[in-house]
Amino acid sequence: MDFLRPTTWAEALAAKADRPDAVPIQGGTDVMVEINFGVRRPAALLDLTRIAELATWTNQDGRLRIGAAVPYSVIIDRLGGELPGLAQAARTVGSPQIRNRGSVGGNMGAASPAGDSHPPLLAAGALVEAESRDGGVRMIPADAFYTGVKRHALRPDELIRAVHLAPATGPQYFSKVGTRNAMVIAVCSFAIALHPGERRVGTGLGSAAPTPRRALEAEEFLAKELDWAAPLTPALLDRFGELCAAAASPIDDVRSSAAYRRHAVAVMARRTLAWAWRDHLGRRAA
Ligand SMILES: Cc1cc2nc3c(=O)[nH]c(=O)nc-3n(C[C@H](O)[C@H](O)[C@H](O)COP(=O)(O)OP(=O)(O)OC[C@H]3O[C@@H](n4cnc5c(N)ncnc54)[C@H](O)[C@@H]3O)c2cc1C
Repeated sequence: MDFLRPTTWAEALAAKADRPDAVPIQGGTDVMVEINFGVRRPAALLDLTRIAELATWTNQDGRLRIGAAVPYSVIIDRLGGELPGLAQAARTVGSPQIRNRGSVGGNMGAASPAGDSHPPLLAAGALVEAESRDGGVRMIPADAFYTGVKRHALRPDELIRAVHLAPATGPQYFSKVGTRNAMVIAVCSFAIALHPGERRVGTGLGSAAPTPRRALEAEEFLAKELDWAAPLTPALLDRFGELCAAAASPIDDVRSSAAYRRHAVAVMARRTLAWAWRDHLGRRAA
């Protein structure tokens, strides 16, 4: 196995263009497990850990640009105020060791339907900055990024450079069902982000379909029905839960039945909307 070690982003893009079969490795918390368990034996690994800029982030013109290598621990410690939904999701990932190594870029690269960063990125309307030497930069909306189970929209010569999203303008919540409290793959998960300026609510479902996805009808329902100055009604919460469950297309597997996943999505959708709404009305009253 060849081991490619670029030290700059330009070198990394050149290496990927010359060797599209090279598998990028960042924190290695997915890649090394797959290699150790014989799931894959790549002809080459493209080590991105020497490219310092990938582990940095900027906040410019009201947008955050988070380098692909920024680990969960940094998102929790440094970006929790601006990205509360992503930080909540990050707190549920693995163990401290995994949160120190594992990155959002790696989570996107793995594109597992159960990856915890996907629902908050979908709810927040994130964009993925992908780049190749010959094709330049492409900004891919998160909801166009996931194309199948562990499949994404990257071309063979592209790498993820960063994820872009606006700092939260309203309450955000993430909820995850698992068989225990830590070190657990999601049975299913749900994220919500209120965008009061746009009178819009974003959603993200995890582990409830072949890809992470938004509950579009549920978002449209809220855009039409929500009175942003009034308390939520039980009927509205129920309908929102139903529409989120309807957006799921889960499977039966070792972790859960499809029926349970659908039910849990409805419960998480109602709960997270109620939590977010409590915060929203509290801020208005303050
Ligand atoms: C014990 C354990 C517990 C875990 N718990 C959780 C959990 O609770 N929730 C969760 O979501 N995940 C969990 N994971 C999975 C993993 O930690 C995450 O998916 C993590 O975000 C991967 O990040 P990484 O930097 O380690 O990626 P890597 O393993 O380095 O890479 C992952 C994938 O992304 C690709 N990739 C990496 N960087 C780039 C790039 N810049 N451009 C293009 N492709 C790239 C790689 O080629 C690979 O396909 C767990 C893993 C372990 C081992």
